[in-house]
Amino acid sequence: MASITRAAARRLCSATLTAASFKHGESRLGAIMAHNANFVRSGAYNDFKVTGNPDALRCVILTCMDSRLTHLLPAALNIKQGEAKIIKTAGAILSHPWGGIMRSIIVALYELRASEVFVIGHDDCGMRTVAPASVMGKMVAAGVPEDRLRVLEAAGVDVGKWLKGFNSVDESVLTAVRAVKTHPLVPPDLKVAGLVIDPVTGALREAAAGAAT
Ligand SMILES: [Zn+2]
Repeated sequence: MASITRAAARRLCSATLTAASFKHGESRLGAIMAHNANFVRSGAYNDFKVTGNPDALRCVILTCMDSRLTHLLPAALNIKQGEAKIIKTAGAILSHPWGGIMRSIIVALYELRASEVFVIGHDDCGMRTVAPASVMGKMVAAGVPEDRLRVLEAAGVDVGKWLKGFNSVDESVLTAVRAVKTHPLVPPDLKVAGLVIDPVTGALREAAAGAAT
């Protein structure tokens, strides 16, 4: 891959986009690249220079990838540019102690000087209602061979379980909090808090066991 030429990369990219466009509509890549050239040329990036104090919060936040939280969550927590490490995943679910999310938290703690972890789920999260069978049906409709799902199942990969979200955001957040707190590689005195944010108002509350969410 290191020896691939730019022209070849462009052709590869273009071929991939054509295939993707065929099934999923027109790519926004061209518009994004055009905007990006303008963004850089105009110096608009200056508005995003680190204005906050990198030592102000020293926290790492695990939250959901829901696009309603993109600007709302930092604003609701008074987090300025450069002040926190934010890890995003579907549902703020921490499903594996040795996966990429936990590795990111570990790196934030030891290499990026974070000293506190906040797991922040949100009300009205799509991962509460995700239906694995429906997602798998959409995979097949999008061109993933049905046989492949059967082969994976025969090989011991439970795709349905892997896709499953949660019934209660509070319980899910508390599960992630416990997973971080009990991880063998975190400092014993690490502060880990579990919160739930309203994706409309930005109101925060502490996650509570047995909450009806
Ligand atoms: Zn969500």
